[in-house]
Amino acid sequence: MKKIIVFLSFLLMINSVVAQNTYVLCGKLIDTKSGEIKTEQTIVVNDNKIIDVINDYVMPRNTVDKIIDLKDKVVMPGLIDMHVHIEQEFNQKTRLNRYILNEADIAFNSVGFAKTTLLNGFTTVRDLGGTGVNISIRNAINAGKILGPRVFTAGKSLATTGGHADPTNGSSRELTGNPGPKEGVVNSVEDAKKAVRQRYKNGADCIKITATGGVLSVAKSGDNPQFTVEEIKAICDMAKDYGMHVAAHAHGDEGMQRAILGGVKTIEHGTYMSDKTMELMKKYDVYLTPTITAGKEVEEKAKVKGFYPEIVVPKALAVGPQIQGTFAKAYKKGVGIVFGTDAGVFKHGNNGKEFGYMVEAGMSAIETIQSATITPAKILKMENEIGQLKKGFYADIIAVDEDPAQNIKTMEKVVFVMKNGVVYKKD
Ligand SMILES: [Zn+2]
Repeated sequence: MKKIIVFLSFLLMINSVVAQNTYVLCGKLIDTKSGEIKTEQTIVVNDNKIIDVINDYVMPRNTVDKIIDLKDKVVMPGLIDMHVHIEQEFNQKTRLNRYILNEADIAFNSVGFAKTTLLNGFTTVRDLGGTGVNISIRNAINAGKILGPRVFTAGKSLATTGGHADPTNGSSRELTGNPGPKEGVVNSVEDAKKAVRQRYKNGADCIKITATGGVLSVAKSGDNPQFTVEEIKAICDMAKDYGMHVAAHAHGDEGMQRAILGGVKTIEHGTYMSDKTMELMKKYDVYLTPTITAGKEVEEKAKVKGFYPEIVVPKALAVGPQIQGTFAKAYKKGVGIVFGTDAGVFKHGNNGKEFGYMVEAGMSAIETIQSATITPAKILKMENEIGQLKKGFYADIIAVDEDPAQNIKTMEKVVFVMKNGVVYKKD
């Protein structure tokens, strides 16, 4: 009899755990769909989902349910950064990493980066390139083995020989070898198709190409076109077959135009974008990911003697000051903007700085938040799951102390983080 009672109370316990709701009382709540700030709202969370949003403060009717009091906070959906490198954080030794780090070292390093990103309010990120360990990081986070944001990753970026993401750039000839599609280096339409299929096989969620030269690669040009339109088109068509979108790193104008005509969904950085290209962006519904924070960082670090290899310095000094101005112009012209920082080029966790730079360039605070919630959710085909605080959506909820429209710097100090219904931070 005693055994039966123990068993029954155990069943009851399990049942009450499942049925437990969390009532999040929100002083202010940002409705990312309408752009309005609502007051005195209650979000009801069950398990990992939002099951109701009530236009009033509502208290639970039983003692099993929990209350989270955010009555003096501004609550919004978990933020989405569409351009991070979760595997790495750039420093003076980064160039050597390829020769001294094992995959396990990269994995252990990334554990801290992923956690910091989450604790700063970014509950979802798009990872745009690493060694392939990024795919394992995503899996470890999803399995609950390590803390981190929801990750959508490109795995290893695609480049052409000597291009921005050729992993052997700057190596001695003995070490250079001849990397091919498997390592993300393509030089023909056939290579391009093979490389996309390889990413799919490896478990990538999207594709990243380096359509032009870049700042931090050990190569001369930071803006020359590096793929043909035919190669980009082959990549985009193939990616579509596998349900993936394509992001294109691009600083130079010609490479950007080829990328847009080839079918990419986002242009990363966009530094030297011309008026004509801005019109193409609008015509083909391509979004600009500004990465202003990275631009500021490379400009600053280029002034520190010896921080970057000599060949990188002039590129960093040229690109850095341009990025914010180009963003301002593109935004005013009506180009679609999606939030992305290039975290990893600077310290993970500082992603929130980007909001201030965007506001400085003329975007309203609420628009910057929309660019980091509903817009990326749409690009990731997650628009019915993340980016809004709405019934049926994942319980990805964050809070800050102040109204971002009054002080955008508040986005750098996220005080509450819930992802998938689990609280990771509460000051
Ligand atoms: Zn990047």
